[in-house]
Amino acid sequence: MQADIIFFNGEVVTVDEAFSIKKAVAIKGNRILATCTNEEVAQFQGKHTQLIDLQGRSLLPGFIDAHAHLELFGTNYLDVNCKEVSGIDDIIKKLSNRVPLTSKGEWIRGWGYNQNALGRHLTRWDLDQVSTEHPIIVVRTCGHLSCVNSKALEMAGITHNTPDPSGGKYGRENGELTGVLLESAHMNFFLQAMHSEEQIQTGLKIASEHFLKHGITSVHDAGGYGPSHIRSLQKAVSSKAIQQRVYTLYGSLHESGKMVEKGLASGIVTGLGDEWFKIGPAKVFIDGSSSGPTAKTREPYSSNPDDSGILYLQQDELDQSLIESHRKGWQITAHAIGDQAVEMMLRTIERGLADTPINHHRHRIEHAAMTPSDLLERMGSLKVIPIPNPAFLYEFGDGYVQDYGDRTQIMFPLKDFVENNIPFAIGSDSPITDVNPLLGIYAAVTRHSKSGNVIGNEQGISIQDAIKAYTLSGAYASFEENEKGSIESGKLADFVILNESILTCKPDRLKEVSVDLTMINGEIVFSNQKEGVL
Ligand SMILES: [Zn+2]
Repeated sequence: MQADIIFFNGEVVTVDEAFSIKKAVAIKGNRILATCTNEEVAQFQGKHTQLIDLQGRSLLPGFIDAHAHLELFGTNYLDVNCKEVSGIDDIIKKLSNRVPLTSKGEWIRGWGYNQNALGRHLTRWDLDQVSTEHPIIVVRTCGHLSCVNSKALEMAGITHNTPDPSGGKYGRENGELTGVLLESAHMNFFLQAMHSEEQIQTGLKIASEHFLKHGITSVHDAGGYGPSHIRSLQKAVSSKAIQQRVYTLYGSLHESGKMVEKGLASGIVTGLGDEWFKIGPAKVFIDGSSSGPTAKTREPYSSNPDDSGILYLQQDELDQSLIESHRKGWQITAHAIGDQAVEMMLRTIERGLADTPINHHRHRIEHAAMTPSDLLERMGSLKVIPIPNPAFLYEFGDGYVQDYGDRTQIMFPLKDFVENNIPFAIGSDSPITDVNPLLGIYAAVTRHSKSGNVIGNEQGISIQDAIKAYTLSGAYASFEENEKGSIESGKLADFVILNESILTCKPDRLKEVSVDLTMINGEIVFSNQKEGVL
Protein backbone atom coordinates (compact mmCIF):
# COMPACT_ATOMS: atom_id res chain seq x y z
CA MET A 1 0.00 0.00 0.00
CA GLN A 2 1.38 3.43 -0.98
CA ALA A 3 0.91 6.38 1.31
CA ASP A 4 -0.29 9.79 0.16
CA ILE A 5 1.89 11.55 2.71
CA ILE A 6 4.75 10.38 4.92
CA PHE A 7 5.96 12.39 7.90
CA PHE A 8 9.40 11.31 9.19
CA ASN A 9 12.18 12.37 11.59
CA GLY A 10 9.64 13.45 14.17
CA GLU A 11 8.65 13.05 17.77
CA VAL A 12 5.36 11.28 17.08
CA VAL A 13 3.43 11.29 20.34
CA THR A 14 1.00 8.49 19.57
CA VAL A 15 -1.02 8.54 22.83
CA ASP A 16 -1.52 4.82 22.30
CA GLU A 17 -1.92 2.41 25.24
CA ALA A 18 1.82 2.47 26.03
CA PHE A 19 2.16 6.19 25.21
CA SER A 20 4.83 5.17 22.70
CA ILE A 21 6.87 7.72 20.80
CA LYS A 22 7.58 6.96 17.13
CA LYS A 23 9.52 8.68 14.34
CA ALA A 24 7.21 8.44 11.35
CA VAL A 25 3.58 8.37 10.23
CA ALA A 26 2.11 7.33 6.88
CA ILE A 27 -1.28 8.67 5.73
CA LYS A 28 -3.58 7.23 3.07
CA GLY A 29 -6.75 9.13 2.23
CA ASN A 30 -8.37 10.27 5.46
CA ARG A 31 -6.81 7.52 7.61
CA ILE A 32 -3.56 6.76 9.35
CA LEU A 33 -1.83 3.88 7.57
CA ALA A 34 1.03 3.26 9.99
CA THR A 35 3.18 4.74 12.74
CA CYS A 36 6.70 3.35 12.84
CA THR A 37 10.44 4.02 12.50
CA ASN A 38 12.01 6.05 9.68
CA GLU A 39 13.29 2.80 8.14
CA GLU A 40 9.96 0.97 8.33
CA VAL A 41 8.00 3.83 6.79
CA ALA A 42 10.00 3.56 3.54
CA GLN A 43 7.88 0.55 2.47
CA PHE A 44 4.86 2.87 2.11
CA GLN A 45 6.66 5.32 -0.15
CA GLY A 46 5.48 5.37 -3.76
CA LYS A 47 6.02 7.59 -6.79
CA HIS A 48 3.39 10.12 -5.71
CA THR A 49 3.98 10.06 -1.97
CA GLN A 50 4.61 13.49 -0.46
CA LEU A 51 7.47 13.41 2.07
CA ILE A 52 7.55 15.81 5.00
CA ASP A 53 10.60 16.06 7.27
CA LEU A 54 9.45 16.88 10.81
CA GLN A 55 13.01 17.82 11.89
CA GLY A 56 12.44 16.63 15.42
CA ARG A 57 9.19 18.50 15.93
CA SER A 58 6.24 16.90 17.71
CA LEU A 59 3.34 15.39 15.84
CA LEU A 60 0.34 14.86 18.15
CA PRO A 61 -3.23 13.69 17.72
CA GLY A 62 -5.36 16.76 16.90
CA PHE A 63 -6.43 18.57 20.03
CA ILE A 64 -9.98 17.93 21.16
CA ASP A 65 -11.38 20.87 23.08
CA ALA A 66 -13.96 19.14 25.26
CA HIS A 67 -15.79 22.32 26.23
CA ALA A 68 -15.85 25.51 24.17
CA HIS A 69 -18.48 27.92 22.91
CA LEU A 70 -17.85 28.42 19.20
CA GLU A 71 -20.64 30.91 18.66
CA LEU A 72 -19.78 33.13 21.62
CA PHE A 73 -16.09 33.00 20.68
CA GLY A 74 -16.72 34.01 17.08
CA THR A 75 -19.34 36.68 17.62
CA ASN A 76 -17.06 38.35 20.18
CA TYR A 77 -14.89 39.27 17.21
CA LEU A 78 -17.79 41.29 15.82
CA ASP A 79 -18.32 43.10 19.11
CA VAL A 80 -16.33 45.52 21.29
CA ASN A 81 -13.45 43.99 23.28
CA CYS A 82 -13.83 45.29 26.85
CA LYS A 83 -11.27 42.87 28.25
CA GLU A 84 -8.10 44.58 27.08
CA VAL A 85 -8.89 48.06 28.39
CA SER A 86 -7.24 50.59 30.69
CA GLY A 87 -10.38 51.36 32.69
CA ILE A 88 -14.06 52.25 32.58
CA ASP A 89 -13.40 55.45 30.59
CA ASP A 90 -11.66 53.36 27.97
CA ILE A 91 -14.70 51.05 27.74
CA ILE A 92 -16.97 54.06 27.27
CA LYS A 93 -14.66 55.42 24.56
CA LYS A 94 -14.46 52.11 22.69
CA LEU A 95 -18.24 51.60 22.80
CA SER A 96 -18.80 55.21 21.70
CA ASN A 97 -16.78 54.54 18.55
CA ARG A 98 -19.53 52.13 17.52
CA VAL A 99 -22.32 54.71 17.84
CA PRO A 100 -21.87 56.39 14.43
CA LEU A 101 -21.63 52.94 12.78
CA THR A 102 -24.84 51.61 14.34
CA SER A 103 -28.36 52.70 13.42
CA LYS A 104 -30.58 53.94 16.24
CA GLY A 105 -32.37 51.13 18.01
CA GLU A 106 -29.72 48.56 16.98
CA TRP A 107 -27.60 46.79 19.59
CA ILE A 108 -24.10 47.76 20.57
CA ARG A 109 -22.45 44.77 22.23
CA GLY A 110 -19.28 44.45 24.24
CA TRP A 111 -17.67 41.56 26.09
CA GLY A 112 -14.97 40.65 28.57
CA TYR A 113 -15.26 43.26 31.31
CA ASN A 114 -14.06 42.28 34.76
CA GLN A 115 -14.94 44.33 37.84
CA ASN A 116 -11.89 42.94 39.66
CA ALA A 117 -9.64 44.66 37.13
CA LEU A 118 -11.80 47.80 36.82
CA GLY A 119 -12.30 48.36 40.55
CA ARG A 120 -16.09 48.17 40.29
CA HIS A 121 -18.91 46.87 38.11
CA LEU A 122 -20.08 48.84 35.10
CA THR A 123 -23.45 50.55 35.59
CA ARG A 124 -26.21 51.63 33.27
CA TRP A 125 -25.20 55.22 34.00
CA ASP A 126 -21.73 54.51 32.55
CA LEU A 127 -23.32 53.03 29.46
CA ASP A 128 -25.90 55.82 29.14
CA GLN A 129 -22.92 58.10 28.49
CA VAL A 130 -22.33 56.07 25.33
CA SER A 131 -25.89 56.31 24.06
CA THR A 132 -29.46 56.56 25.24
CA GLU A 133 -30.78 55.75 21.76
CA HIS A 134 -29.03 52.41 21.25
CA PRO A 135 -29.54 49.43 23.53
CA ILE A 136 -26.12 48.43 24.90
CA ILE A 137 -24.97 45.24 26.59
CA VAL A 138 -21.50 44.45 27.92
CA VAL A 139 -21.01 40.84 29.03
CA ARG A 140 -18.62 40.07 31.88
CA THR A 141 -15.54 37.93 31.21
CA CYS A 142 -17.23 34.84 32.75
CA GLY A 143 -20.24 35.00 30.41
CA HIS A 144 -22.63 34.74 33.38
CA LEU A 145 -23.13 38.43 34.10
CA SER A 146 -23.64 41.56 32.07
CA CYS A 147 -24.37 45.25 32.31
CA VAL A 148 -26.93 47.00 30.12
CA ASN A 149 -27.90 50.64 29.63
CA SER A 150 -31.26 52.29 30.40
CA LYS A 151 -32.48 51.96 26.80
CA ALA A 152 -31.94 48.19 26.91
CA LEU A 153 -33.84 47.86 30.19
CA GLU A 154 -36.64 49.97 28.77
CA MET A 155 -36.85 47.84 25.60
CA ALA A 156 -37.04 44.70 27.74
CA GLY A 157 -39.74 46.25 29.94
CA ILE A 158 -37.66 45.78 33.09
CA THR A 159 -38.24 48.37 35.82
CA HIS A 160 -37.33 48.67 39.50
CA ASN A 161 -40.65 46.91 40.22
CA THR A 162 -39.67 43.78 38.24
CA PRO A 163 -38.96 40.88 40.62
CA ASP A 164 -35.69 38.92 40.28
CA PRO A 165 -36.00 35.80 38.11
CA SER A 166 -35.29 32.42 39.74
CA GLY A 167 -31.58 31.63 39.57
CA GLY A 168 -30.71 35.25 38.95
CA LYS A 169 -30.71 38.84 40.14
CA TYR A 170 -30.97 42.40 38.88
CA GLY A 171 -28.30 44.60 40.42
CA ARG A 172 -29.95 47.28 42.62
CA GLU A 173 -28.75 50.31 44.52
CA ASN A 174 -31.16 52.19 46.82
CA GLY A 175 -34.07 50.51 45.04
CA GLU A 176 -32.85 51.59 41.59
CA LEU A 177 -31.65 49.15 38.90
CA THR A 178 -27.90 49.48 38.31
CA GLY A 179 -28.05 47.74 34.92
CA VAL A 180 -26.08 44.71 36.16
CA LEU A 181 -27.73 41.37 35.34
CA LEU A 182 -26.65 38.26 37.19
CA GLU A 183 -26.88 34.65 36.00
CA SER A 184 -30.39 33.75 34.73
CA ALA A 185 -31.30 37.47 34.58
CA HIS A 186 -28.41 37.86 32.12
CA MET A 187 -29.03 34.60 30.23
CA ASN A 188 -32.71 35.42 29.67
CA PHE A 189 -31.95 39.00 28.76
CA PHE A 190 -29.37 38.06 26.15
CA LEU A 191 -32.11 36.62 23.94
CA GLN A 192 -33.08 40.21 23.16
CA ALA A 193 -29.53 41.05 22.16
CA MET A 194 -28.95 38.01 19.95
CA HIS A 195 -26.86 38.35 16.82
CA SER A 196 -28.48 37.77 13.45
CA GLU A 197 -28.06 34.36 11.78
CA GLU A 198 -25.74 35.97 9.25
CA GLN A 199 -23.54 37.39 12.02
CA ILE A 200 -23.57 34.00 13.75
CA GLN A 201 -22.39 32.19 10.60
CA THR A 202 -19.62 34.79 10.18
CA GLY A 203 -18.70 34.33 13.83
CA LEU A 204 -18.57 30.54 13.56
CA LYS A 205 -16.21 30.78 10.60
CA ILE A 206 -13.92 33.14 12.52
CA ALA A 207 -13.98 30.79 15.51
CA SER A 208 -13.17 27.75 13.40
CA GLU A 209 -10.17 29.48 11.81
CA HIS A 210 -8.79 30.51 15.19
CA PHE A 211 -9.22 27.00 16.55
CA LEU A 212 -7.40 25.54 13.52
CA LYS A 213 -4.42 27.82 14.17
CA HIS A 214 -4.21 26.24 17.59
CA GLY A 215 -4.36 22.68 16.31
CA ILE A 216 -7.91 21.94 17.44
CA THR A 217 -9.48 19.32 15.20
CA SER A 218 -12.60 18.49 17.24
CA VAL A 219 -14.76 20.67 19.45
CA HIS A 220 -17.34 19.72 22.03
CA ASP A 221 -19.55 22.76 21.68
CA ALA A 222 -20.94 23.69 25.09
CA GLY A 223 -23.87 25.66 23.79
CA GLY A 224 -25.44 28.98 22.94
CA TYR A 225 -29.01 30.15 23.14
CA GLY A 226 -31.77 27.66 22.43
CA PRO A 227 -32.39 25.28 19.50
CA SER A 228 -31.42 27.92 16.95
CA HIS A 229 -27.82 27.61 18.15
CA ILE A 230 -27.71 23.91 17.28
CA ARG A 231 -29.22 24.63 13.85
CA SER A 232 -26.58 27.33 13.26
CA LEU A 233 -23.81 24.89 14.18
CA GLN A 234 -25.16 22.18 11.90
CA LYS A 235 -25.45 24.65 9.04
CA ALA A 236 -21.90 25.89 9.58
CA VAL A 237 -20.50 22.36 9.67
CA SER A 238 -22.29 21.45 6.40
CA SER A 239 -21.10 24.59 4.64
CA LYS A 240 -17.56 24.04 6.02
CA ALA A 241 -17.63 27.43 7.74
CA ILE A 242 -16.69 25.20 10.69
CA GLN A 243 -13.95 22.82 9.57
CA GLN A 244 -13.63 20.88 12.81
CA ARG A 245 -15.66 17.90 13.89
CA VAL A 246 -18.33 19.03 16.34
CA TYR A 247 -19.90 17.14 19.22
CA THR A 248 -22.68 19.38 20.42
CA LEU A 249 -23.78 19.44 24.02
CA TYR A 250 -27.56 19.54 23.87
CA GLY A 251 -28.43 22.44 26.10
CA SER A 252 -28.96 26.15 26.23
CA LEU A 253 -27.49 29.00 28.21
CA HIS A 254 -30.99 30.08 29.18
CA GLU A 255 -33.71 27.78 30.52
CA SER A 256 -31.51 24.73 30.05
CA GLY A 257 -34.08 22.41 31.68
CA LYS A 258 -36.73 23.28 29.10
CA MET A 259 -34.28 22.74 26.27
CA VAL A 260 -33.50 19.23 27.54
CA GLU A 261 -37.23 18.48 27.79
CA LYS A 262 -37.65 19.46 24.14
CA GLY A 263 -34.77 17.20 23.15
CA LEU A 264 -36.37 14.29 24.99
CA ALA A 265 -39.74 14.95 23.38
CA SER A 266 -38.17 15.00 19.91
CA GLY A 267 -37.13 11.35 20.26
CA ILE A 268 -33.45 11.85 19.41
CA VAL A 269 -30.63 10.61 21.66
CA THR A 270 -26.91 11.17 22.08
CA GLY A 271 -24.90 9.84 19.13
CA LEU A 272 -27.22 10.99 16.35
CA GLY A 273 -25.13 12.33 13.48
CA ASP A 274 -21.85 11.39 11.86
CA GLU A 275 -18.12 11.87 12.37
CA TRP A 276 -18.49 15.61 11.53
CA PHE A 277 -21.52 16.61 13.56
CA LYS A 278 -23.01 14.64 16.39
CA ILE A 279 -25.55 15.19 19.14
CA GLY A 280 -23.80 14.93 22.51
CA PRO A 281 -25.09 14.85 26.07
CA ALA A 282 -28.16 16.57 27.47
CA LYS A 283 -26.79 19.48 29.47
CA VAL A 284 -28.24 21.70 32.19
CA PHE A 285 -26.85 24.46 34.38
CA ILE A 286 -26.66 23.88 38.12
CA ASP A 287 -24.74 26.90 39.41
CA GLY A 288 -22.90 30.08 38.51
CA SER A 289 -19.28 30.86 37.65
CA SER A 290 -16.02 30.34 39.50
CA SER A 291 -14.75 33.89 39.08
CA GLY A 292 -17.99 35.88 39.54
CA PRO A 293 -18.01 34.34 42.06
CA THR A 294 -21.47 32.79 41.80
CA ALA A 295 -20.52 29.08 42.06
CA LYS A 296 -22.59 27.14 44.63
CA THR A 297 -20.22 26.04 47.38
CA ARG A 298 -20.81 23.99 50.55
CA GLU A 299 -19.05 26.59 52.69
CA PRO A 300 -19.37 30.36 52.13
CA TYR A 301 -16.78 32.23 50.09
CA SER A 302 -13.60 33.18 51.92
CA SER A 303 -14.11 36.70 50.55
CA ASN A 304 -17.72 36.97 51.79
CA PRO A 305 -19.08 34.86 54.68
CA ASP A 306 -22.67 35.74 53.67
CA ASP A 307 -22.46 34.36 50.16
CA SER A 308 -22.18 30.81 48.84
CA GLY A 309 -23.40 31.29 45.28
CA ILE A 310 -26.41 30.78 43.05
CA LEU A 311 -28.37 27.67 42.08
CA TYR A 312 -30.18 27.56 38.74
CA LEU A 313 -31.94 24.32 39.60
CA GLN A 314 -32.96 22.55 42.80
CA GLN A 315 -32.16 18.85 43.24
CA ASP A 316 -35.66 17.67 42.27
CA GLU A 317 -35.62 19.78 39.09
CA LEU A 318 -32.19 18.45 38.19
CA ASP A 319 -33.33 14.87 38.77
CA GLN A 320 -36.39 15.46 36.68
CA SER A 321 -34.44 16.88 33.73
CA LEU A 322 -31.65 14.37 33.66
CA ILE A 323 -32.87 11.04 35.05
CA GLU A 324 -35.46 10.74 32.30
CA SER A 325 -32.74 11.60 29.76
CA HIS A 326 -30.53 8.89 31.26
CA ARG A 327 -33.38 6.36 31.00
CA LYS A 328 -33.93 7.24 27.35
CA GLY A 329 -30.28 6.60 26.49
CA TRP A 330 -28.83 10.08 26.57
CA GLN A 331 -25.40 10.80 27.93
CA ILE A 332 -26.02 13.46 30.57
CA THR A 333 -23.97 16.34 31.89
CA ALA A 334 -24.28 19.54 33.87
CA HIS A 335 -22.41 22.74 34.38
CA ALA A 336 -21.27 22.37 38.01
CA ILE A 337 -18.53 24.52 39.53
CA GLY A 338 -18.90 24.66 43.31
CA ASP A 339 -18.65 21.51 45.45
CA GLN A 340 -22.35 21.66 46.31
CA ALA A 341 -23.28 21.74 42.62
CA VAL A 342 -20.88 18.88 41.83
CA GLU A 343 -22.43 16.84 44.64
CA MET A 344 -25.95 17.50 43.31
CA MET A 345 -24.97 16.15 39.89
CA LEU A 346 -23.34 13.06 41.42
CA ARG A 347 -26.53 12.44 43.39
CA THR A 348 -28.61 12.68 40.19
CA ILE A 349 -26.30 10.23 38.43
CA GLU A 350 -26.48 7.84 41.42
CA ARG A 351 -30.27 7.97 41.34
CA GLY A 352 -30.36 7.51 37.58
CA LEU A 353 -28.09 4.48 37.71
CA ALA A 354 -30.05 2.95 40.60
CA ASP A 355 -33.22 3.36 38.55
CA THR A 356 -31.75 2.16 35.23
CA PRO A 357 -28.26 0.62 35.36
CA ILE A 358 -26.23 1.41 32.23
CA ASN A 359 -22.63 0.27 31.94
CA HIS A 360 -20.96 2.63 29.52
CA HIS A 361 -22.99 5.73 30.21
CA ARG A 362 -19.97 8.08 30.19
CA HIS A 363 -21.92 10.76 32.02
CA ARG A 364 -19.93 13.93 32.40
CA ILE A 365 -19.64 16.93 34.68
CA GLU A 366 -18.68 20.18 32.93
CA HIS A 367 -15.95 22.03 34.89
CA ALA A 368 -16.27 20.01 38.14
CA ALA A 369 -14.15 22.84 39.45
CA MET A 370 -14.32 22.07 43.17
CA THR A 371 -13.96 18.38 43.92
CA PRO A 372 -13.06 17.42 47.52
CA SER A 373 -12.04 13.84 48.30
CA ASP A 374 -15.53 12.49 49.13
CA LEU A 375 -16.84 13.66 45.75
CA LEU A 376 -13.72 12.38 44.01
CA GLU A 377 -14.45 8.93 45.38
CA ARG A 378 -18.06 8.99 44.21
CA MET A 379 -16.98 10.27 40.81
CA GLY A 380 -14.56 7.36 40.50
CA SER A 381 -17.00 4.67 41.52
CA LEU A 382 -19.74 6.05 39.25
CA LYS A 383 -17.24 6.31 36.33
CA VAL A 384 -18.15 9.92 35.71
CA ILE A 385 -15.98 11.98 33.34
CA PRO A 386 -15.10 15.46 34.65
CA ILE A 387 -14.33 18.15 32.07
CA PRO A 388 -11.99 20.57 33.89
CA ASN A 389 -10.55 23.83 32.56
CA PRO A 390 -7.00 24.28 33.88
CA ALA A 391 -6.56 27.55 31.95
CA PHE A 392 -8.99 29.06 34.47
CA LEU A 393 -6.17 28.76 37.02
CA TYR A 394 -4.03 30.95 34.79
CA GLU A 395 -6.81 33.44 34.05
CA PHE A 396 -8.62 33.62 37.40
CA GLY A 397 -6.28 31.86 39.88
CA ASP A 398 -5.40 34.96 41.90
CA GLY A 399 -9.08 35.72 42.47
CA TYR A 400 -9.62 32.07 43.51
CA VAL A 401 -7.19 32.48 46.39
CA GLN A 402 -9.29 35.37 47.71
CA ASP A 403 -12.69 33.76 47.09
CA TYR A 404 -11.95 30.16 48.06
CA GLY A 405 -8.83 30.25 50.30
CA ASP A 406 -7.36 26.78 50.90
CA ARG A 407 -9.99 25.22 48.67
CA THR A 408 -7.75 26.06 45.69
CA GLN A 409 -6.02 22.74 46.59
CA ILE A 410 -9.12 20.87 45.41
CA MET A 411 -9.92 23.10 42.44
CA PHE A 412 -9.47 21.42 39.07
CA PRO A 413 -7.67 18.62 40.98
CA LEU A 414 -6.03 17.00 37.97
CA LYS A 415 -3.45 15.07 39.97
CA ASP A 416 -6.25 13.54 42.06
CA PHE A 417 -8.06 12.56 38.85
CA VAL A 418 -4.91 10.87 37.50
CA GLU A 419 -4.21 9.03 40.76
CA ASN A 420 -7.80 7.82 41.05
CA ASN A 421 -7.93 6.66 37.43
CA ILE A 422 -10.71 9.10 36.61
CA PRO A 423 -10.61 9.81 32.87
CA PHE A 424 -10.91 13.57 32.43
CA ALA A 425 -10.98 15.63 29.26
CA ILE A 426 -9.80 19.23 29.18
CA GLY A 427 -11.88 22.06 27.78
CA SER A 428 -10.85 25.70 27.32
CA ASP A 429 -14.36 27.03 27.92
CA SER A 430 -13.28 29.56 25.34
CA PRO A 431 -14.08 32.48 25.00
CA ILE A 432 -13.95 32.50 28.81
CA THR A 433 -10.26 31.68 28.51
CA ASP A 434 -7.84 31.72 25.60
CA VAL A 435 -8.57 28.81 23.28
CA ASN A 436 -4.87 27.81 22.95
CA PRO A 437 -4.50 24.17 24.14
CA LEU A 438 -0.84 24.81 24.91
CA LEU A 439 -1.98 27.33 27.52
CA GLY A 440 -4.29 24.68 28.99
CA ILE A 441 -1.44 22.15 29.04
CA TYR A 442 0.90 24.74 30.59
CA ALA A 443 -1.63 25.48 33.34
CA ALA A 444 -2.34 21.78 33.94
CA VAL A 445 1.38 21.13 34.41
CA THR A 446 2.53 24.28 36.25
CA ARG A 447 -0.70 25.53 37.92
CA HIS A 448 0.63 29.07 37.35
CA SER A 449 -1.72 32.04 37.46
CA LYS A 450 -1.09 35.03 35.21
CA SER A 451 0.88 36.76 37.95
CA GLY A 452 3.04 33.65 38.46
CA ASN A 453 1.45 32.37 41.70
CA VAL A 454 1.09 28.61 41.98
CA ILE A 455 -2.57 27.71 42.58
CA GLY A 456 -3.00 24.37 44.37
CA ASN A 457 0.63 23.27 44.20
CA GLU A 458 -0.09 19.55 44.75
CA GLN A 459 -2.26 19.18 41.67
CA GLY A 460 0.20 19.64 38.77
CA ILE A 461 0.34 16.74 36.28
CA SER A 462 2.86 15.52 33.69
CA ILE A 463 2.95 16.85 30.11
CA GLN A 464 1.99 13.34 28.95
CA ASP A 465 -1.14 13.24 31.11
CA ALA A 466 -2.11 16.73 29.98
CA ILE A 467 -1.71 15.75 26.31
CA LYS A 468 -3.86 12.67 26.84
CA ALA A 469 -6.58 14.80 28.47
CA TYR A 470 -6.55 17.10 25.43
CA THR A 471 -6.71 14.25 22.89
CA LEU A 472 -7.71 10.64 23.62
CA SER A 473 -9.79 11.44 26.70
CA GLY A 474 -11.76 14.01 24.71
CA ALA A 475 -12.55 11.28 22.17
CA TYR A 476 -13.55 8.97 25.04
CA ALA A 477 -15.91 11.63 26.43
CA SER A 478 -17.78 11.54 23.10
CA PHE A 479 -17.63 7.71 22.61
CA GLU A 480 -15.19 8.17 19.69
CA GLU A 481 -11.91 6.76 21.04
CA ASN A 482 -11.88 4.04 18.36
CA GLU A 483 -11.96 6.66 15.61
CA LYS A 484 -9.66 9.41 16.86
CA GLY A 485 -7.66 10.79 19.78
CA SER A 486 -4.44 8.84 19.13
CA ILE A 487 -2.06 8.25 16.23
CA GLU A 488 -2.72 4.61 15.44
CA SER A 489 -3.22 2.66 12.25
CA GLY A 490 -6.80 2.87 10.95
CA LYS A 491 -7.78 6.01 12.87
CA LEU A 492 -8.84 9.28 11.26
CA ALA A 493 -5.92 11.41 10.08
CA ASP A 494 -6.55 14.31 12.46
CA PHE A 495 -3.35 15.70 13.93
CA VAL A 496 -1.19 18.65 14.72
CA ILE A 497 2.49 19.41 14.20
CA LEU A 498 4.09 21.75 16.74
CA ASN A 499 7.08 24.01 16.12
CA GLU A 500 9.31 22.05 18.49
CA SER A 501 9.51 18.94 20.66
CA ILE A 502 6.86 19.25 23.36
CA LEU A 503 8.22 16.41 25.49
CA THR A 504 11.60 18.09 25.99
CA CYS A 505 10.15 21.59 26.37
CA LYS A 506 10.64 23.17 29.84
CA PRO A 507 7.22 23.41 31.54
CA ASP A 508 7.55 27.19 31.96
CA ARG A 509 7.80 27.57 28.19
CA LEU A 510 4.89 25.32 27.21
CA LYS A 511 2.54 28.17 26.46
CA GLU A 512 5.09 29.58 23.98
CA VAL A 513 4.98 26.44 21.84
CA SER A 514 3.01 27.05 18.65
CA VAL A 515 1.37 25.10 15.86
CA ASP A 516 3.05 24.62 12.48
CA LEU A 517 0.38 22.50 10.82
CA THR A 518 -3.10 21.15 11.45
CA MET A 519 -4.54 18.23 9.52
CA ILE A 520 -8.17 17.07 9.60
CA ASN A 521 -9.40 14.03 7.69
CA GLY A 522 -6.09 13.74 5.84
CA GLU A 523 -6.20 17.34 4.61
CA ILE A 524 -3.97 20.21 5.64
CA VAL A 525 -6.36 22.82 7.02
CA PHE A 526 -3.78 25.12 8.57
CA SER A 527 -0.12 25.71 7.93
CA ASN A 528 1.86 28.64 9.29
CA GLN A 529 3.79 28.72 5.99
CA LYS A 530 7.09 29.48 7.62
CA GLU A 531 9.96 28.27 5.53
CA GLY A 532 10.77 24.66 6.25
CA VAL A 533 7.36 23.79 7.64
CA LEU A 534 6.64 21.56 4.69
ZN1 LIG B 1 -19.02 26.85 29.23
